[in-house]
Amino acid sequence: MCGIFGVYGHPDAAVLTHLGLYALQHRGQESAGIMSIEADGAAHPMRAMGLVSEAIPSSALKPLTGHVAIGHTRYSTAGSSTIENAQPIMARFRGGSIGLAHNGNLTNAPELRAELEADGAIFSSTMDSEVLLHRLARSHATDPAQRLADALAGVEGAYSLVVTINDTLLVARDPRGWRPLVLGRLGEAIIAASETCALDIVGATLLREVQPGEIIAIEDGELRVLQAMAPQSLRKCVFEHVYFARPDSQVFGHSVDRARRALGRQLAREQPAPGAELVFAVPDSSNAAALGYAEESGLPLELALIRNHYIGRTFINPTQAGRDAKVKVKYNAVREVLAGRSVVMIDDSIVRGTTTRGLVTMVRAAGAREVHMRVSSAPVTGPCWYGIDTPRRSELIAANMTVEEIAKNLGVDTLGYLTIEGMLAAVPGGPEGFCHACFSGDYPTPPPSDAVDGVLARC
Ligand code: AMP
Repeated sequence: MCGIFGVYGHPDAAVLTHLGLYALQHRGQESAGIMSIEADGAAHPMRAMGLVSEAIPSSALKPLTGHVAIGHTRYSTAGSSTIENAQPIMARFRGGSIGLAHNGNLTNAPELRAELEADGAIFSSTMDSEVLLHRLARSHATDPAQRLADALAGVEGAYSLVVTINDTLLVARDPRGWRPLVLGRLGEAIIAASETCALDIVGATLLREVQPGEIIAIEDGELRVLQAMAPQSLRKCVFEHVYFARPDSQVFGHSVDRARRALGRQLAREQPAPGAELVFAVPDSSNAAALGYAEESGLPLELALIRNHYIGRTFINPTQAGRDAKVKVKYNAVREVLAGRSVVMIDDSIVRGTTTRGLVTMVRAAGAREVHMRVSSAPVTGPCWYGIDTPRRSELIAANMTVEEIAKNLGVDTLGYLTIEGMLAAVPGGPEGFCHACFSGDYPTPPPSDAVDGVLARC
């Protein structure tokens, strides 16, 4: 998964991008990058591994001059965590400079890459996004928006993009609209961002979403819209609302906080916990869902788990031993809240089960009498091919066990998930138009040819 950001028409474009990336840190923690572009097309890239603060300290921004900039935070679990795979990616071609930052996964990338390689192209990364760079350079269109349209013709899968061709900023979103992308205005400048929280941090106001299938060129402070791709049935990622996006953002035109609270209320209706005395969240991603559950059930919301804010997202640790230890490093239980009580623990999702298993042990050690786990999404039964990093099918607990078996395995007294129908009905803008493939197995594209045990072995 990734966060993308772009600025057109601001003297401090790279500084704004740096701020924007801080707000998009939750979308990617492996590497960060900024590329700035001058009016004459001269481009200044900077990419490094790590969090934004480590990868791009403020002191490194000085050489990133220009009125246009794009940025990227990257996140993958699929073994390709190297600097070559950091973005924005950049190239020079006969028409000048190209920069590109991508959120999503192109499902036919192996075929597109093989085609280019057969024609002599060489690649410097294992990223699917690099095929777009080649396709951009090969188009003979002189108009930058048309060049991007040419590059995207025949490309399948998920992409929200910020692209520069010299000092033209282009944004695009795939016709199914898998990943979010919005435009904002800051004075004369135009800002593009994965989520509205990144507009807020720079003081920009939301202009509108980039619509699915749209390519927009930003030149001289004006938006020129090219509805380049034929519309297809929408497949906005429901997991953005469930877990991925920040609750202070709007994605797909709706507040993530409101979506999560509605999921929590729906969960309380579908999966009550008779006899329980209190509700608590696995912070932070399920805070809003736990609030919704408490509102609907009438149970008090307590702060039973405290999260160490200096630790990143649990899931990202590549080894199981590391993940087990990290649960303890990341959370601790509050005895005074839990001792002797029958409790409802809310999490937004269970993937491998590592987090829940560790937390249940911790909550019981703090004296909880009964632990009723409630999950504000449906069981994750399949990997995502469209940009969320999920493990192989063999590691997904709900792909391999029934709900009763999972409850036993995790050590909870009862376990209740949302139904897929309930989840889609609760999310604002639903129930139609969402991708729920990781829950339902209803994948709108054929499997990517390089998927191993269901999962993509690439960025
Ligand atoms: P697990 O421990 O593997 O069951 O992971 C579940 C925990 O990770 C939950 O607390 C979720 O909030 C979080 N989570 C779910 N999906 C992802 C993802 N794709 N990347 C990172 N964290 C995730």
